[in-house]
Amino acid sequence: MAFRSLRTKLAVIYTSLFALVMAVAAGAAFTSVQRAATRMVQDEMAATAAVFDRIWVLHARQMGDAADILSRDFGFRAAVATRDVLTLESALDNLKQRFEFDIAFVIDQQGDAVGESEHVAESDVAAFMAGLRDRDAASGVILVGGAAYHAVARPVRAPTHIGWVVFAYRLSPQGLNDLTALSAIPLDARLFWQVAGDDWRSAQTDDPGLLSLLGPAPAAQAVGFSQDGQALVSAIAVTPFSDDVSALLVLQYPVAQAMAPFHSMMLVILGVSLAGLLVIILGSWLVSRSLARPILALERAAGRLARGERGGLARVSGQDEIARLAESFNAMGEQIAAREQRITHMALHDTDTGVPNLAALENEVDARRARSGRDRVFAVLVGIDRFDKVRGAIGYALSSHMIADLVQRLERLFPDAFVGRVSTDTLGLIIDAESVERVLEQAKAVMTEANKPVQLGEDQVDIHATVGVAALADTQRIGLTVIECAGVAVDQVRARGERLGPFDSHAYGDPTRVLSLMSRMIEGLGSGDLFLAYQPKHDFRAQAVTACEALLRWRDPERGFIGPDEFIPLAEETGHILPLTEWVLDRAIADQVRMKAAGHDLQVAINVSGRLISDPRFVAAALNRLSRHSGRICFEITETAVIENPEQALEHMTELRAAGVSVSIDDYGSGLSSLAYLRSIPAEELKIDKAFVMELDASQADRLLVKSTIDLAHSLGLKVTAEGVENAESIALLAGMGADFAQGYHIGRPMPLADFLGHISALPDAGTVEPLRRVQG
Ligand code: C2E
Ligand code: CA
Ligand code: CA
Repeated sequence: MAFRSLRTKLAVIYTSLFALVMAVAAGAAFTSVQRAATRMVQDEMAATAAVFDRIWVLHARQMGDAADILSRDFGFRAAVATRDVLTLESALDNLKQRFEFDIAFVIDQQGDAVGESEHVAESDVAAFMAGLRDRDAASGVILVGGAAYHAVARPVRAPTHIGWVVFAYRLSPQGLNDLTALSAIPLDARLFWQVAGDDWRSAQTDDPGLLSLLGPAPAAQAVGFSQDGQALVSAIAVTPFSDDVSALLVLQYPVAQAMAPFHSMMLVILGVSLAGLLVIILGSWLVSRSLARPILALERAAGRLARGERGGLARVSGQDEIARLAESFNAMGEQIAAREQRITHMALHDTDTGVPNLAALENEVDARRARSGRDRVFAVLVGIDRFDKVRGAIGYALSSHMIADLVQRLERLFPDAFVGRVSTDTLGLIIDAESVERVLEQAKAVMTEANKPVQLGEDQVDIHATVGVAALADTQRIGLTVIECAGVAVDQVRARGERLGPFDSHAYGDPTRVLSLMSRMIEGLGSGDLFLAYQPKHDFRAQAVTACEALLRWRDPERGFIGPDEFIPLAEETGHILPLTEWVLDRAIADQVRMKAAGHDLQVAINVSGRLISDPRFVAAALNRLSRHSGRICFEITETAVIENPEQALEHMTELRAAGVSVSIDDYGSGLSSLAYLRSIPAEELKIDKAFVMELDASQADRLLVKSTIDLAHSLGLKVTAEGVENAESIALLAGMGADFAQGYHIGRPMPLADFLGHISALPDAGTVEPLRRVQG
């Protein structure tokens, strides 16, 4: 059985155990009482039987004595001999009245009854005679006129046998019960007889069939229960007058009656048991409650602990195991609470400085939104400019100290603001205010404070900070948190070269627009809105176009022309660059096959974003495509790409080169690459950024730079392409400087494949490119 509560369980177990014990005790008491009662009744029956026996003998003797006296009387003998009926009757009557016999008569030698004619019929006399056959005296039970009698017959001799004197009295039910009145208990006595194998019969006509209860063959002197167990029965064999009659005196006493005197005692036992049971139920309920209460208290406390509620202690008094358990539980609870507090503190604080972290600031935004409403909550972010440089100069410990110090100063300045650290170089303030203007005023004070030099021991460190402000109300559409918006504001302010400003949502753009633009772009790949334009590369040594660069073009039916400088960065940000570049590669491979078919075996260069070079998915896809293609393919990669994830990128580049792909460093000069960096890249070509080439003819400085770059590249074993060649002068100059390839509007603009094929087919043969050769010469 499953109990929902310990208290009920204990109470039920105690109560059932006690009830069981009670039932066993009551049962034992009942049987022993019953046994005692039975024994008492049996003893009484035996005693009654003995008394009956004695009385029976006494009566027999009395009747025998009276008959003897009479039979010895001379006058009586003479009367019997002479059949003097009158004398006989008077003598018999006399004795009959004296001894209260019911029957008194004489049986003469002829076998006739004399002196009693009203009771004794011919047949009855025959019964007497049957008993007296071969005997001269007899006594016992006999049936006369259907009723049972105790009879005695004695011989009359004068001096020879002349007849019998017979006395009898009736064994009436009344008489038998008088006999049992002598007993201490009210026994019911009945006489049963059986004539020569007939059924047993009794004088009582209302007899309930007691003999059948006695069993088929009642034994003399048997004492026991009747067959239905309702009565205690004792059968006493009674001497019959003649051998063909059997007689039994049956005493019976109903068990219920035997038990009656004990009823009140039983009731008392039952009452006491019930009262005990009640006491036990109550007691075990109370005990189990007192046992269960501390456990319940512990359970509730554990629940509170689980829910992380405060004050989860269990109050249990006493010295027992449960009290000790509660004590250790409480100790555990306190430890858990302390640990939880530490964890919560750690989760919400910066480990370096101990000031609240980004999560804490975000919680604060939520709390203030709930308290003051979304229109009043603002974030002010303070970006420490070139923090990594400062940290490099003063070390980690001091720079953390510096941050903590700035946080304290800001907290003092703005007691109502919540100040924390957003990232390594950015602090944040959450402020309640009525308007952006008010916040900008405060932000100005923040900026002034954050730009103050910091005293660190002996040294003074100048720090410069940029401050961005964002309103929670403005962030709804953008999908950024107010803290992220303020971070964007910092970047925006920095980009403008300013120190303080609010978030400019217009400049940030609309991310939903970006996403719809991207899905349009992917659609455009299938519909032909996007296509590749090819720009020829002039090979100085071969004096011919031997290569081309594939450049993406997008002509949207609704928005018109969209430049790659606009959608490529978006595709990079949103992850669409991978499918886009795969498409470009497929297209370029297909177009290269067509170029070849048109008689132009050209190397085709495609632009690969830096991100993709370190993306194993792209590299695997590219290698897979190129393994089934024989044309010469070049990947143009800008130098910054390699800087982001150098190990991976370099590994991939080596793999691509091994697969026959040329690698070209694009836009060289626009970044900050060093010689060491260039050496480490497994590239074949360097493309000098068009910014240095476009005005080559006019700028002495550009000429110097381009020339030294070409020399440097050559010394590293790299070929050089100059991009942005817009005039013939530049071509001549580059040829003079030893550049390997030239690319630019002057040679050919980027063109759709068909135009491109037309363009290069129209070019004069290598040998006829006069101006170039002349200049070069
Ligand atoms: P980029 O790789 O440096 O490509 C050369 C850019 O210079 C092209 O601009 C080209 O039209 C332009 N250009 C070529 N010759 C001259 C010239 O004589 N004078 C001037 N002023 N410009 C010239 P475009 O096509 O607008 O492409 C811009 C940038 O977009 C590319 O710079 C490249 O970085 C990127 N891009 C274009 N197509 C793809 C592409 O398929 N994948 C990736 N990842 N980027 C691409
Ligand atoms: Ca390029
Ligand atoms: Ca370029």
